[in-house]
Amino acid sequence: MTTTPLVPPVPAQTEAMAALRAAVREFLADELAAGRFTPQVDSWIAGWDPEFTRRLGEHGWLGMTIPSEYGGHDRSHLERYVVTEELLAAGAPVAAHWVADRQVGPSLMRHGTDYQRRRYLPGIARGETYFAIGMSEPESGSDLASVRTRANQVDGGWEITGTKVWTSGAHHAHAFFVLARSEPLDPAHRHDGLSQFIVDLDSPGIEIRPIKLLTGHHHFNEVVLDRVFVPDELVLGAPGDGWEQVTSELSFERSGPERILSTFPLAQAFAESLRGAPTSEVVDADLERLGRIAARAATLRQLSLAVAGALTEGAAVDLPAALVKDLGTQFEREVIDEVMAGSRIEPDPTSTDELARLSAEALMHAPGFTLRGGTTEVLRGVIARGMGLR
Ligand SMILES: Cc1cc2nc3c(=O)[nH]c(=O)nc-3n(C[C@H](O)[C@H](O)[C@H](O)COP(=O)(O)OP(=O)(O)OC[C@H]3O[C@@H](n4cnc5c(N)ncnc54)[C@H](O)[C@@H]3O)c2cc1C
Repeated sequence: MTTTPLVPPVPAQTEAMAALRAAVREFLADELAAGRFTPQVDSWIAGWDPEFTRRLGEHGWLGMTIPSEYGGHDRSHLERYVVTEELLAAGAPVAAHWVADRQVGPSLMRHGTDYQRRRYLPGIARGETYFAIGMSEPESGSDLASVRTRANQVDGGWEITGTKVWTSGAHHAHAFFVLARSEPLDPAHRHDGLSQFIVDLDSPGIEIRPIKLLTGHHHFNEVVLDRVFVPDELVLGAPGDGWEQVTSELSFERSGPERILSTFPLAQAFAESLRGAPTSEVVDADLERLGRIAARAATLRQLSLAVAGALTEGAAVDLPAALVKDLGTQFEREVIDEVMAGSRIEPDPTSTDELARLSAEALMHAPGFTLRGGTTEVLRGVIARGMGLR
């Protein structure tokens, strides 16, 4: 693995990528015209739509980087980037496949066995197999090395006991990656002795308890594992290597366009509301706000694309990925602030006015932007250490 500079070079967009982008846009326009989805803010978390996901699978837009021998499409991270960027910008419902497509596929290709790849990857590429992530616990979030979920070796496999929390989509997913302590904690080497397991969510001993959002929506869960048997074939990577594996997954998790574009549909609706508006001081001020949003989005996109390019090269990108997430999630919040300052719209989740509805959705989802996938403070620690400052 090669190391990268603070910001890797931005890769060139090829003609093939432009053609792919045009095809995705056409598909999205058709879907919208047919009323098959309504644009949403934070659609990679909130928009769970298995039918939409399957249609993406039929177009070959899931599992794009997975080799064809496992049902994928042999395409690059950059091509996948084009597809995900277009889907997110349109607010399309992509939550059902998000975790599976973004990080389970790459993780199985990096650490999984042939058996595991054959078992899960074709379903992921068809948009029929969904995954969740079981890292966080009630007493363990940023400091994941403190996880208390235990994996004890038994005949033919492992028995896992513990509680995971904030498990997005576990109530719909088929399986989840569980990080558990498989060897006793050695305080001098806290990151050792952790392992990752692929746990089917219909396994005996699993209880999925909903944690409702203030809005009443069911997105999160607490997942209790009580002596859940996981066969040896479903240990992900080598036992004891869990920490290294989880941190390599985080680069995929932190650097993508979803860390910039969660509120982009709101920016689009804001732009639409200004289209053709007669010139006035108020409209000019709104256009300035829109200009600031566009300038920030363009810069952050270059940074995120640069990381996608480096991932294609197999480079270590922990530091620039943390930069994307920190700056990108701040921007997602800034979009809301700019629109709220400008539009004089009363946020209302039930409104038929798109700007009112999307601004309400954005406000309700915003608190999570800088928490999920690593908090701002933790990311800044990663950045400072990566630059040799700590
Ligand atoms: C929308 C959403 C979806 C999520 N989905 C999932 C999921 O599917 N699976 C999953 O496993 N988890 C999920 N999470 C959980 C998420 O990963 C955790 O919330 C996150 O890692 C922070 O952990 P915590 O909530 O325990 O906060 P804590 O780690 O307790 O942090 C509390 C505060 O202390 C600060 N802090 C902590 N450590 C340090 C430090 N070393 N230096 C400086 N400040 C520090 C933090 O920045 C934060 O402000 C999700 C969270 C959200 C919001």
